[in-house]
Amino acid sequence: MSPPPLPQRARVVIVGGGIIGCSVAYHLAHMGWKDVVLLERDRLTSGTTWHAAGLMVTFGSTSETSTEMRKYSCDLYARLEAETEQNTGFKRTGFIEVASDRDRLEEYRRVSAFNRLMGIDVKEITPRQVGDLFPLAKTDDLLAGFYVKEDGRADPVGVTMALAKGARQQGATLLENVPVTGLKTHRGAVTGVSTPFGDIEAEYVVNCAGMWARQLGAQHGVTIPNQAAEHYYLITERIPELSKDWPVLEDPASYVYFREEVGGLMIGLFEPVCAPWNIRGIPDDFSFGEIQPDWERMGPYVEKAMARVPISMTAGVKKFFCGPESFTPDLRPIVGEAPELKNYFVCAGLNSIGILTGGGLGRVMAHWIINGRPDVDVTAMDIDRLHTYQTNPEYRRTRTVESLGMVYKCHYPTHTMVTARGARKSPFYDRLAALGAYFRDVSGWEGADWYKPEQPTIEQHSWGRQHWFPQWEAEHRAAREGVILMDMSFMSKFLVEGRDAGRVLDHISANSVDGAVGQITYTQWLDVAGKLQADLTVTKLADDRFWVVASDTAHRHVETWMKRSIGDAHAHVADMTGAYAQINIQGPRSRELMQLVTSADMTNEAFPFRAAREIDIGFARVLCIRITYLGELGYELYIPT
Ligand SMILES: Cc1cc2nc3c(=O)[nH]c(=O)nc-3n(C[C@H](O)[C@H](O)[C@H](O)COP(=O)(O)OP(=O)(O)OC[C@H]3O[C@@H](n4cnc5c(N)ncnc54)[C@H](O)[C@@H]3O)c2cc1C
Repeated sequence: MSPPPLPQRARVVIVGGGIIGCSVAYHLAHMGWKDVVLLERDRLTSGTTWHAAGLMVTFGSTSETSTEMRKYSCDLYARLEAETEQNTGFKRTGFIEVASDRDRLEEYRRVSAFNRLMGIDVKEITPRQVGDLFPLAKTDDLLAGFYVKEDGRADPVGVTMALAKGARQQGATLLENVPVTGLKTHRGAVTGVSTPFGDIEAEYVVNCAGMWARQLGAQHGVTIPNQAAEHYYLITERIPELSKDWPVLEDPASYVYFREEVGGLMIGLFEPVCAPWNIRGIPDDFSFGEIQPDWERMGPYVEKAMARVPISMTAGVKKFFCGPESFTPDLRPIVGEAPELKNYFVCAGLNSIGILTGGGLGRVMAHWIINGRPDVDVTAMDIDRLHTYQTNPEYRRTRTVESLGMVYKCHYPTHTMVTARGARKSPFYDRLAALGAYFRDVSGWEGADWYKPEQPTIEQHSWGRQHWFPQWEAEHRAAREGVILMDMSFMSKFLVEGRDAGRVLDHISANSVDGAVGQITYTQWLDVAGKLQADLTVTKLADDRFWVVASDTAHRHVETWMKRSIGDAHAHVADMTGAYAQINIQGPRSRELMQLVTSADMTNEAFPFRAAREIDIGFARVLCIRITYLGELGYELYIPT
């Protein structure tokens, strides 16, 4: 085969021709950026997209951004056929989520309330109405259903081809059989891509390589911790009683969804304990591929699932399909500009909703690239929330087992991931554990949530008052009336040094932070549009030395924002998070406690609000800052580890 003619340069090169890459190309071209080249290693849709079930569901998310993306995708796929004359298979058959226990009923009622606020017409229906809409379903054990008439299904290949055609019609170039083998970079920014047929210079590169995204990013030190896992559906032989116009039926408690497929039933599964696939790396030549189904592992789940539509047990199995799909450590997509490489964007790790959010994601990405910032709140899905250790094989192997099943779990507000724990522990961890701490996953750190020496476990989460409420109450009371110690070592801590450090920090802060030495300032960082980018404190330790403390979730965002703002100025950022433990001492009696353990003068006159000083505690020399977020007297101690 002769090599395809490659352009020498393009404004944007997109890597990957699944639904995501095609959607990004479509939206860039529609927004006026025509100089776009999409490179697909094999053929369009050959990765994961070709075998998706194509459920188009707006119900279910409690994220405004994700819900808007779902709605936008439905609207786009509904009109795409008229624009491109390419069939998308989009059909508003309706969707029903059933609840068979009290906790799920509570969750779906809350979700419905939020979804209605977002303009989705969700109706709570009775089990009998569920039966009217999906007559083959067993409904006698149901409490309710949640019905969205406008939801339905689409043909993932049809939608992707329509997006590709629409992109081409607008002037974008989409090339198949061109693998991207590397990147061109210069001074921390991407400048192009390499292929076996030559290089292409580019201002922007967008990694939409699906389950290959991680290994492609790793070539240039970009952290993209998505991991492929086995993902199943079973298709039965024809069932004459079944209508193709029935809604999609989802029963998360039985790990299953159902929809019609060529006269039979498609029975899709989200088993609670899943199997990661190819931890070491995805083969370069895996195209339109299937995984050998693991009947033994999946058998019990299939049985439970089929019980919801009993006729499926006797209909005969036409196909038990297993294909890989990418999952992420927190079940949210990986989207945005890589902290490690300027102008290198990523959109991958779709957690089995790449079709139903693909249209919306493409729109957000295109807007972000063209305007330099997104037009919706992307905090929860921004690539910079993720950490390097999460790409470790052992982490991916351990965490992914839990990720897929999370889709159909009951999402209690107090839930915390239980796998891949203990990645980061403060120096106080063992002592807190000995005191009976119950730990939550706090950005990979073990964060003590409450203490109960005799039984720090949660047998059953709930939507109501938790059994550890008395422990929380006691801590709350102590903070108001006495004094408490909190291990806050998970907070992100940075030392910024250099003769321009103060000037740069002052420039990016909404507050003035370059005042007197030995003073802390609480401030926000805003972008040029006035949107909040960070909420943190800056402490001036010396004229050329600053201590920046931000929340754990904003760690890499803050670090990247600082580093990019410094540019060529004389300032250097060092991440000190692991180098210092942090204890917050809060409450009206915190001064009393402090005075007991240090020889420093802690009186209000000697140590006023916002003061920052090094003090002695035992043999240790620690940084002590007088600040509080509780409305009471309080101090923060930063202790070298
Ligand atoms: C069984 C199953 C059922 C599903 N059902 C649904 C559903 O009902 N609804 C839903 O929304 N989602 C569903 N999904 C998920 C959905 O299929 C994915 O989220 C989506 O297809 C991901 O699209 P993508 O473009 O990110 O990845 P892909 O489709 O994998 O595209 C990535 C592309 O990048 C290419 N590529 C990789 N490396 C390179 C390189 N170096 N150079 C050039 N090209 C490269 C690959 O060849 C591939 O074509 C399902 C998934 C599975 C497995």
